[in-house]
Amino acid sequence: MKRYWLAVCLLLSCNLLVAAEVNIYSARKEALIKPLLDKYTEQTGVEINLVTGKADALIKRLELEGVNSPADLLLTVDVGRLYRAKKLNLLAAVDSPLLREAVPAIYRDPEGYWFGLSLRSRVIVYSRQTVSPQQLSTYEALAEPRWKKKICVRSSSNIYNQSLVSAMIAHLGEDKTEQWAKGLVANMARSPKGGDRDQIKAVSVGQCSLALVNTYYLAGMLNSKIDSEVTAAKKVALFWPNQQGRGAHVNISGAGVTRSSTRKQEATRLLEYLVGEQAQHWYAEANHEYPVRAGVPVSKTLQQWGEFKSDQLPLSKLGELNTRAVRLMDRAGWK
Ligand code: FE
Repeated sequence: MKRYWLAVCLLLSCNLLVAAEVNIYSARKEALIKPLLDKYTEQTGVEINLVTGKADALIKRLELEGVNSPADLLLTVDVGRLYRAKKLNLLAAVDSPLLREAVPAIYRDPEGYWFGLSLRSRVIVYSRQTVSPQQLSTYEALAEPRWKKKICVRSSSNIYNQSLVSAMIAHLGEDKTEQWAKGLVANMARSPKGGDRDQIKAVSVGQCSLALVNTYYLAGMLNSKIDSEVTAAKKVALFWPNQQGRGAHVNISGAGVTRSSTRKQEATRLLEYLVGEQAQHWYAEANHEYPVRAGVPVSKTLQQWGEFKSDQLPLSKLGELNTRAVRLMDRAGWK
């Protein structure tokens, strides 16, 4: 294919076609996005180079490389990082009717600097053995004394927790959120450690009764090739918090075109592809996430959990409040 274009282009001197490639800095693991990018290359001939790493390290790299950065797109798994990248002047505004139409306004930057690609909710999981869903209601209620030493949650350095606390600040104000965080810390069964999967495993073996985790971790464990993960996941159940009120907290995986990119059009086209119907289906299914585009079917596991009411807070708010959330968690003693 490439050789064919090369021949055509030698005749027509259309070097743009040959140069079509997009470089991505991705905080999402290669296996979770590469097959989709390969399909794009197959369909368009555009080569995609993927550099994967931790979001903070990739942002640092973008900063250090400045205008000379080869990256065209930054892909992260939390809005907090996209917001930070925008603040650091690392992203460029994109004006695309296709993106505006596919991605609901609350899941993209109001100025077009970043766009959500998939959705996940941070939910309560509970032990099927020791907890009944009637005992559960809201995130707020997790601070009640009856859950003393019964809750497992990862550390405050984790951006998913920071974004949840940011949402709490947006809805309840800082004072009430701080009271809540103190109550939650008092209810922790152990000092925070491990990732979301580890919290699920801790509930499954009775180290705690409840945990706060992202939906795709539970779905991933339920569909895991590792027997012990499936066994652990089956011992817990999902509870959608705040369904009588504002709805469950939601976050995105998303991406933005870099300021340094010399191929902003190509990068935008790739983003448009990623929010297309087919890509949305594959991306959400492979990662056990919810599509950001309306009307795209969800995976079997997600179907079993039923529909839920989601928080309608614009996610840019989570980025805005991140610094306050981090300080608040520190004051509350959330390790
Ligand atoms: Fe994650």
